[in-house]
Parts: sequence; C-alpha cells; structure tokens
Amino acid sequence: MAEKPRISFHDFTSCEGCQLQVLNCEDELLDIVGAVDIVYFREAIDEKSDDYDIAFIEGAFTRQSDLERLEHVRKCAKIVVALGACACTGGLNVLKNYRGIDESMKVVYGDQARWYETSEVQPIDAMIDVDYKVHGCPIPKGEFLEVVKSLLAGRKPQIPDYPVCVECKLRENVCLYHKGQYCMGVVARAGCNAWCPSYGGRCYACRGLISDPNNDAAKDVLEEFGLTMQQVMDEFRLFNGVYDVAKE
Ligand code: SF4
Ligand code: SF4
Ligand code: SF4
Repeated sequence: MAEKPRISFHDFTSCEGCQLQVLNCEDELLDIVGAVDIVYFREAIDEKSDDYDIAFIEGAFTRQSDLERLEHVRKCAKIVVALGACACTGGLNVLKNYRGIDESMKVVYGDQARWYETSEVQPIDAMIDVDYKVHGCPIPKGEFLEVVKSLLAGRKPQIPDYPVCVECKLRENVCLYHKGQYCMGVVARAGCNAWCPSYGGRCYACRGLISDPNNDAAKDVLEEFGLTMQQVMDEFRLFNGVYDVAKE
C-alpha cells in the first residue's frame, strides 16, 4: 500500500445514511483526512478516481446493471469494506425479496413499475469478495473509526462477535422481556452499546447476527415468555431477511 493510503466511498442501493455517519465523524474525520487521500466520495468531494487502496461500499445489490460497477470497485481496491446493514446483509431492502419483487414494484411504482430495473436483493459479499464489514443501520461512528485506524495500522479490526445483551447488561438496563416485549439482542451482534434497548426500543438486529448464535438458548428465552422464533420472524426479517432463522 502507498505511504498515504487512497480511500474511496461508493454507494449502491441505500439511503446514504452511513456515508452521512462518516461525515458526522467531524473532528476524527479531520485526523483521518490527514492520514489518507480520499479520492472518491460523491457525497463530499467532486474528484473521481479509480486509483484507490481501500474501498468502502455502502448499499445493497438490487439490480444486475450494478454488477459491472461493483466488480470494477473490487478490481481497483486492495481492501473492500462493506459499510452498513444494506451492504452487509441487504438491510431493509431485503423486504422486497420475501414480499415478492413484482408485488413490491407494484406497490412502489404502480403502473410505471415496468420502467424500473430491479432484481433479488443481495448483500455485497454475495456478489464480490468483501474483506471487512462495518455493521449497523446506521453504522456506529466509533466502529467506522476503529476499522479505518486498524487498516492504517495494518492490523485486523476488532469487530464485536457477541450479543447485544452483553452491552445491555453492562448498561444495567431492565430486559425488555421483563416488560412484556421481545427483543433480538440475544442473537444480534453487539457494537452499538445496546442503543435501542437503552432508550426503550427493541433490538431488531440491524447489526446482523453473531457468527455463532446460540439459537437453542434464544428459543429457550422466547419459550419462557410464551413466544416462538416464528412469531418474531416478521420483525427480525426487517434487517435480516437473508437469514432463514425460522428453519433453524
Ligand atoms: S444501513 Fe441504514 S443508514 Fe446505512 S445506508 Fe442502509 S438504510 Fe441507510
Ligand atoms: S432488552 Fe434485549 S438486549 Fe437487553 S438484555 Fe433483554 S434481550 Fe438482551
Ligand atoms: S440495539 Fe439492535 S437494532 Fe438497535 S442499533 Fe443495536 S443492533 Fe441495531
């Protein structure tokens, strides 16, 4: 890698909120800007270049005509990082897959649906090799900075691979199950400092699943409170439609 790594940001199907999170890093971003050359970042700069070392990709793959651009990014970059739930798991976009593509197009575009190209939603790593993932909807700024700093230092980024419940307990929250609600924190990847349960909201696992979720333990918790995995699937699918946990 060159002495000053060249960094790029690319967007596919997304709300672009994760790129905004990068811009929201403000003070830390100034430090990063001093250590790297940002050569492509449509939301922030006018320049465009195909000469980059680290490519951050936001957004899901949702149309075949994007494949060429996606493969081009992979070819140009030494390291590819998926940025946010849309890129890591398909995110909210996956709703389209299990609702039915034709039905979704009709609901959104009505009679004009035929004007728009679409295909089954896929996370980015289903189409190209991805080296690292920054999870979340949106990404936590701290995790993005950890990944950038690690890559600049030549070490592997530390991404949590334990459940949100761990962070939730450390924050001494009363578990939502004890308040008559359900929550996916038992199998969701930590790293957000239990954002949602800390403010009274349920965890929808926007950061995806931990790599080895204890499904049996999760089922036990749900059973204890009179619920089944199937009952929580609709909301769990909101961010994780690519996983078919109902069959597990
Ligand atoms: S992960 Fe969420 S915030 Fe990020 S681009 Fe997708 S929808 Fe927007
Ligand atoms: S509220 Fe959710 S994240 Fe917190 S302990 Fe309960 S299940 Fe886990
Ligand atoms: S608590 Fe769950 S839904 Fe909320 S930010 Fe964390 S992983 Fe995402």
